Amino acid sequence: MVPLLRLPLLLLIVSAVIACKSNPQDKAATISKTTAKPTVIRDKQIDIVAIMKRKQVPVLCYHQIRNWRANDSKSAKDDIVQIAAFKEHIKMLADSGYHSILPDQLYDYLTAGTPLPGKPIMFTFDDTDLDQFTIAAPELKKYGFKGLYFIMTVSIGRPKYMSKAQIKQLSDEGNVIGSHTWDHQQFTKLSGKDWEIQLDKPTKKLEEITGKPVKYFAYPFGLWNVEGLPELHKRDFKAAFQLSTKRYDKDPLMTIRRIIDSGHWNSKNLMGNIKRDF
Ligand SMILES: [Zn+2]
Repeated sequence: MVPLLRLPLLLLIVSAVIACKSNPQDKAATISKTTAKPTVIRDKQIDIVAIMKRKQVPVLCYHQIRNWRANDSKSAKDDIVQIAAFKEHIKMLADSGYHSILPDQLYDYLTAGTPLPGKPIMFTFDDTDLDQFTIAAPELKKYGFKGLYFIMTVSIGRPKYMSKAQIKQLSDEGNVIGSHTWDHQQFTKLSGKDWEIQLDKPTKKLEEITGKPVKYFAYPFGLWNVEGLPELHKRDFKAAFQLSTKRYDKDPLMTIRRIIDSGHWNSKNLMGNIKRDF
């Protein structure tokens, strides 16, 4: 996917990130205000109030792990963590006693109060970039960490993106593969046949590749709307991940918060933001 699709995609990501950072509370409020009807939760056993009361687990979101190029803009660099910085951040978290958890553990903790290891944290990777396989995964492995990789299926096997075999290997090594739609369309604009293209087919493809069910979803650009949430429930997704806007108190599992570990941050900045945001 290359230059043509890649550039607008990056620009959109950047603008979404800026939007999220600029005024998260307002954005969440706008989303909730436009929609009065509550989300249908299929499993009536889920105690939403209890979930909202539990302390949030820090979830980090990464895109590209590579050294900056001359033409990378300042805002693009939020999504591009340089290799040495990435290694330093991960080492700092390991040295600080963090334990990575996987989404099933997070789900069990949120829904049933199942205990987590001390200082839990979750690593998530969006957009299928190859450097997540070549750089990030081996680095996590050094410390016994695992991650959740959100794949946009259109890019599988393209230059600079992961192949089917690499995705399968991540899954076989104990990481979790989630869905990030087919081609990164904005979730809030999907309707009709889009759901099949952006949710059903990617799930099927990823399940064929990994041999495991796909139960987790990440919103492109982190953007979600209340009207779309039943589409995820209908398809039995257990949880969905946004960026750092406020959770939807009627459906916190489908609006789990993440922060982007910015390419501009050092380890100290990362630690400060983890403590402030979760
Ligand atoms: Zn994305």
